[in-house]
Amino acid sequence: MDRCKEPENYYRASLGGKAARPPLGGTQRADICVIGGGFTGLSAALHLALAGAEVILLEAETIGFAASGRNGGQIHTGFRQTQEHLESWLGKLHARDLWVLSEEAKALVLELAAQYGIGCALKSGLVIAAHNRRAARELAEDTEYLRMHYRYTQARMIDADETARSLGTQIYPAARFDCGGGHLQPLAFASGLASAAVQAGAWIHEHTRAQRIETSGQVVQVVCESGKLNADRIILACDAFSGALAPELSSFIAHVESFITATEPLPNELYESVLPCDAAVADTRHVLDYYRKSADRRMLFAGREAYLTLPKNIGAMVRPRMEHVFPQLKSARIEYAWSGTVGITRTRMPHLGRLSERVLFAHGYSGQGVALANLGGKLLAEAAMGHPERFDVLARVPAKRFPGGAALRKPLVAAGLMWFKLLDFL
Ligand SMILES: Cc1cc2nc3c(=O)[nH]c(=O)nc-3n(C[C@H](O)[C@H](O)[C@H](O)COP(=O)(O)OP(=O)(O)OC[C@H]3O[C@@H](n4cnc5c(N)ncnc54)[C@H](O)[C@@H]3O)c2cc1C
Repeated sequence: MDRCKEPENYYRASLGGKAARPPLGGTQRADICVIGGGFTGLSAALHLALAGAEVILLEAETIGFAASGRNGGQIHTGFRQTQEHLESWLGKLHARDLWVLSEEAKALVLELAAQYGIGCALKSGLVIAAHNRRAARELAEDTEYLRMHYRYTQARMIDADETARSLGTQIYPAARFDCGGGHLQPLAFASGLASAAVQAGAWIHEHTRAQRIETSGQVVQVVCESGKLNADRIILACDAFSGALAPELSSFIAHVESFITATEPLPNELYESVLPCDAAVADTRHVLDYYRKSADRRMLFAGREAYLTLPKNIGAMVRPRMEHVFPQLKSARIEYAWSGTVGITRTRMPHLGRLSERVLFAHGYSGQGVALANLGGKLLAEAAMGHPERFDVLARVPAKRFPGGAALRKPLVAAGLMWFKLLDFL
């Protein structure tokens, strides 16, 4: 019987309390105001401070409160769309530029962790596990395409036997083992980025929700309950929540609630029988299982999604998925269970752009933001400092609105996502 407190985020519990950073007070000024203290905002603030800008970051709750402090910690290669698809949609040159940026995104995470000594249990190895034979064929084709056309040799296909030996489960017909991917403790990484940004000269105010943005001439003002901030430029880094501050962005983002559990630390034999390769794993279904082991020997298992309402008992909902993959974990108690909101776009590509000459935004990494959001922040910083060329490689990817208008969007998107869920059974 699981006796976990829900919802309780294992990452937060394992880090312990951090000294709070004070809310914004009075009327302040900065060159650039960053709104949102997840990977995007923190990376933007750090890179801006390093470039010599006066930067103030406002976070509605605490650093890493939303997706960046709750996610699966998996570092993926590329985007949610294959390079072959991006080439046929956007042209070869654009697709190649995107690939170069996505490779930089992974390298950036490693570089930041090393440079700032961020202890976040960073490990290499990401497995994409095929849920059926057709998915295995497509994965093999994509792996070969990356090898042939992008000289990406860090990923290789493994057959059913090797997959079973690497993962400790026999349910997959094949998988892709990607040494270029990896995993980390995301909240520890976000906290480390925040410290690095402050060290570099940025100011961070927690418990400071931006209520509205007002533009007058050359100055933009961010109005919060506890104070006001005048800035030359604003960076909007609120991911799934951008629409609350900038209603014109609402139709570009859908919300998917994803669920994660953490078992108790596993006894030796059990620990060694599950996921012996110690990589992170995601399967190929639309509503995917994704999992990895923590540094303190727990299984962190995520699965299932919700679009309209939250379940009462996350642990009970995720457990059957975990036991399907690892029947040997039947006796393992779930100690933590929590959820987080994933911001997804209709194209499944990140959405970067400008609301005006002075307001830049980046959101909608569609489940692949551990690497890409950190890059998004760096590109936002470059653009805000007058070098938009690399930012524009992503901003040029055409974004599509979800249909339905304010009232119907949520149920229509939920129906669409449930359709994808059904496809998993084909
Ligand atoms: C459960 C879950 C699992 C995931 N797993 C993975 C994974 O394994 N691998 C992967 O690559 N990606 C994963 N993702 C996606 C990834 O976590 C996100 O893409 C990434 O963290 C987005 O970072 P961000 O900084 O843009 O947004 P967020 O981390 O959501 O940060 C936005 C911040 O803005 C703040 N904010 C919102 N409104 C305001 C306001 N008005 N004023 C001030 N602050 C405000 C919020 O409090 C929040 O802290 C997952 C996401 C979830 C939810």
